[in-house]
Amino acid sequence: MTAHLVDCSCMEPDASWGQVALRIPWSEVGAVQSFAVPVRLVRLSGELPTGHRDGDDSSEMSRLLGQLPAGIRIIVTGEHPAGLVSELPRAMESEHKNLWFEVSGEAKDLVATVRQAGLSGWPVLLPRDSAALWQSPDLLDLLDLYLFEETLQVPIEPFHSMLVSLLSRSGRTLWNMWFGWPLDFFFIDEDHHVSLCASWASDSNRCYGSATDSVSVWRASEAHDSLAAMLDERKSCSDCESCPIRHLCGGALRAVHSDVDCSTWVEIVERLRLAAAALGRTAGDRNHGNQS
Ligand code: SF4
Repeated sequence: MTAHLVDCSCMEPDASWGQVALRIPWSEVGAVQSFAVPVRLVRLSGELPTGHRDGDDSSEMSRLLGQLPAGIRIIVTGEHPAGLVSELPRAMESEHKNLWFEVSGEAKDLVATVRQAGLSGWPVLLPRDSAALWQSPDLLDLLDLYLFEETLQVPIEPFHSMLVSLLSRSGRTLWNMWFGWPLDFFFIDEDHHVSLCASWASDSNRCYGSATDSVSVWRASEAHDSLAAMLDERKSCSDCESCPIRHLCGGALRAVHSDVDCSTWVEIVERLRLAAAALGRTAGDRNHGNQS
């Protein structure tokens, strides 16, 4: 089940129900406009388009991004952010688009890549599909970059959301961040079948209903119930019972990578917990100072 969510090649669920998230190559950016339902997130992969067209001084990348609607969240996947930084400065300034950089699972020099993207103003997502990444001691260097680099003005996820969760005591876990949304996500295919994604929608046993049904009908369907049961099953991983951070991770890492060594991630969450405690104290001291 989780592998299905991770590997889904055509789209992936997003936080807002009824809105499509797409995973497409740069060359197919224009197809986004042909969808009847609004696309809220687009994940662009493949070679970065570079260069300029005759008589046009904007970069090819800016031109392609210009075809996407304003307000859309755009995640660009890659190994080397240098091309983004050199080709895109004007698009980032002028377009009302929410641009993120997702490190490729194969990034060879992870810390340098994230540093380059982050310090250039690109919010960074660490991909969940690389077991090697989640076991790498380099993640601890990335955490230091996120916590202590004064010139970094953008989030590195999931560190940022985890820290916010700790500070706000919201109880939001890594599981919520990675898998909290499938039950609220409804994909509508061209035949108006509704389900989690395109491949599910084409399987009658996994179809929630039709686009003309109400959301309550979709939620009451057997396929929707079976998705909830599958998610619960993955959540109750017995290996996680004795884990010191299970209430903050929720078993997400082992749900994606069953044999992963979680020690680096445990260390990261413990350090984030210390950072949240220190930040909480600092805020408390400041409030106390204002009152006295
Ligand atoms: S054992 Fe691993 S997957 Fe399970 S809760 Fe702990 S860190 Fe998360």
